[in-house]
Amino acid sequence: MRLIFLGPPGAGKGTQAARIAEKHGLAHLATGDMLRAATAGDSPLSEKARAIMASGGLLPDEMIIELISAPVSGAKTTGFILDGFPRTVPQAEALDKLLAALNAPLEAVIAFDLDEKAIRQRIIGRGSEAGQHAREDDRQEVITRRMAEYRRHTQPLRDYYQAKGLLRPVDAAGTVEQVSAEIEEILAEKVLTA
Ligand code: ADP
Repeated sequence: MRLIFLGPPGAGKGTQAARIAEKHGLAHLATGDMLRAATAGDSPLSEKARAIMASGGLLPDEMIIELISAPVSGAKTTGFILDGFPRTVPQAEALDKLLAALNAPLEAVIAFDLDEKAIRQRIIGRGSEAGQHAREDDRQEVITRRMAEYRRHTQPLRDYYQAKGLLRPVDAAGTVEQVSAEIEEILAEKVLTA
């Protein structure tokens, strides 16, 4: 299966992607984690990338596309869940091109629905649970910027994938188990109708 998990920050994409990937033997490709690993060093470029992430901004499309291309190609046969990518229409277009060249189309885009109030509560909760290990971009003022980036750049991807008949919304306000069950139902339907 080749899937995208799409949704606002704090909607639980990462948690669900890890669970579903493990259960179905899929690669979990999370651009946020890949970026935090790739920019851990102290080169000027890493420092610049970290500053953008810490402020809640998005990194340049070309950088992200370069980062994700090899892992996506490598997971072509096992299947994958993309978590945090694509986040902009140009990224989605680049992904389409890559997958067309690999002859490996997407099967579904799971869209996490969660209202803004719940998003804030979740991210703040995640920050206080993590204590001093909290992510720098989970601070209150940064959440506002991440939400704005989401609305402006990522939300339009819902229409993009809806138009392709791939969008499958899930109610992300439920418990971890409830949301997983909803996703599993969608995947079962996909397999049955494939
Ligand atoms: P969340 O989904 O909780 O917002 P992530 O861990 O997915 O967080 O991403 C953290 C940060 O990494 C983003 O705020 C952004 O700065 C950067 N990033 C991750 N994926 C992308 C992407 N596809 N395009 C641009 N920037 C990205």
